[in-house]
Amino acid sequence: MYVTTIEFLFAHGITAADWAQEHFGTDTWHGDICGCPDDRCLGNHHDEADPCPCVRSLVTNR
Ligand SMILES: [Zn+2]
Ligand SMILES: [Zn+2]
Repeated sequence: MYVTTIEFLFAHGITAADWAQEHFGTDTWHGDICGCPDDRCLGNHHDEADPCPCVRSLVTNR
């Protein structure tokens, strides 16, 4: 997962393991490398250089 995404989650009190549990019911991440639960996010939802907007909206709306 992207460091920026991990830092963003941490800033909201969420660990990478919490995130995986919440979205996949397991400690293992299944989404895209950017942190999106959708495994085809990077390059489709946003550019490789950009932080993932999906993760941000998911955290904000949880
Ligand atoms: Zn996405
Ligand atoms: Zn993404």
